[in-house]
This record gives sequence, structure tokens and C-alpha cells, in this order.
Amino acid sequence: MTKAQTENILKLTGFLMATALVTGFLYISGWARLVFILVNLIALITTTSYAHRSATHGAVEYGPKTYWGLRLGFWITTGQYIYEWVGVHRWHHSDTEGKKDPHSPANEGIWQIQILNFLYYVRAARQSEKMEKFARDIKEKEDTWDRVLFCRGWLGLLVGIVVLCLLLGPVQGLIVSAMHATLYVFFQTSSVNGLCHFAHWGAYQSNPVLEYARTVWNDWIIGLFTGGEGWHYNHHVEQKSARLSRRRSEPDLGWYFILVAEYLGGATNVERPKLLLAA
Ligand SMILES: [Zn+2]
Ligand SMILES: [Zn+2]
Repeated sequence: MTKAQTENILKLTGFLMATALVTGFLYISGWARLVFILVNLIALITTTSYAHRSATHGAVEYGPKTYWGLRLGFWITTGQYIYEWVGVHRWHHSDTEGKKDPHSPANEGIWQIQILNFLYYVRAARQSEKMEKFARDIKEKEDTWDRVLFCRGWLGLLVGIVVLCLLLGPVQGLIVSAMHATLYVFFQTSSVNGLCHFAHWGAYQSNPVLEYARTVWNDWIIGLFTGGEGWHYNHHVEQKSARLSRRRSEPDLGWYFILVAEYLGGATNVERPKLLLAA
């Protein structure tokens, strides 16, 4: 199969999944739509505010109750193991767009990352020596909750699906589970690793702060639909900042969550950005 044929199949797969998502959303009840949006928001907030900004980059620390709630939400709504998530993501930062980047559109092609991002993630997470190198600290601070429950992503997904079926009935519960998985895996996380690293639109020319970051973008729409992760250029330039946006007009749900948690006493040592970057 030629590269062009593979790309066409991946594009068609993306189109079919987007169509299935819209059809599913129109089919399910109003209550199921509300639950679907809520589950997706929990997945986005736990991914960006806990797994990314806190566990990976140490930009914020959470109190015990908030930390436990975030781990539970991440486990049930994403089925991912934090040790592997942090390992793969720090690996990405260690050689962004370089030959060792585990999920680079520059190396693999934009549609490969946009549609098959999860395969690149799984392949990277299986390299135990890399996980040990990049996320040893995460393993070292695991508690009983992590070792018994939260390290078993498949169990979290199972619990999540059962809860949805109890809330919505088996048919709508399974449809909402499939819709959430499709949106999160194939459109939200993959857009951050794919489109936000796709050297195509040219906006990077106004932001040549870092050599490698010339292929990293900020994108308002992706920022809106990924809990703020679309401010990806800002993030690569200032990885220690808990805020990924720089202006009030820039949607950053993960940052709003951190501000509320800080106000309520559930978050401390919140790192503010030091650079005001071009929009
Ligand atoms: Zn990062
Ligand atoms: Zn990146």
C-alpha cells in the first residue's frame, strides 16, 4: 500500500468516526448527552490538570483529597496508567520533533498521529527502560491506591462502563462509553500530539522562541476542546507553568480548575507563567 493510499484510509476513518459521533449524539437522550459531556469534562480536567500539569511537570501540587479525586477520575474516564502517561510525555519533551520523539507528525505523518496516536502511545509505554528513565519518581511515590487499583487501567474503564450502564441503561450506556472513547482518543488527545505539532499553518513564524518549537502551535479551537491543551506552543516554551493560556480570552479549562482548587485550599505551589507570549 502506498503512503497516499494509507493516508486516504486514515482520513476516511476520521471522517466516519466524526459522523458516528454526531449521529450518536443526536440519537441518545438529553440526560445521556449531559452525562457524556460531564464524563468528557472529567477526562479532560484530570488529564490536563493532574496527569500533565501536575504529575509530569510539577507545576501544581494537590492536597490529599483533591489528589485522590483526580486519580479516581483519570482512572475511570481514561483508563490510563499515570506512570506510563508521564513516561511517554516526558519522552516527547526530551526530543520534540527529533528522531526519538515517540509521536511526531514530522516523522510519522500528520494523519498517522491524528488517527493512530494511541498505537504510538502504547508502543512507547511498552518500552520499560524508557518509562523507568523518564518516570521513576512517579513509580517511587505510588501508594496502595495506585498499586492496587489505579495502575490497572482496564479495570478503571470497566468500572466506568458499568457506572454508565447503571445510569443510562445498557444500550445508551454502551453508546456513551464508545462516543467518549472515540472523542477522547481520536480527536482530543490526538489533536494535541498531531495538529498542535503540525508544521503547516505558518503561525510559528511569529514565535521563533525555541528552535524545535517552530513546529508547535497555539490553537484557540483545540484549546477550547482539550481543556486548554491547545495552547501547546506556550506549554513547550514554558513547561513549568500551570497556566497554558496567557490571556483571559484564551480558553483554558485546566487552569480554571487549578484556580478554583487553589482558592478552596486543594492546590498549592501553583506556578504562574513568566513570559507573555504572542497569541
Ligand atoms: Zn508537557
Ligand atoms: Zn508537544
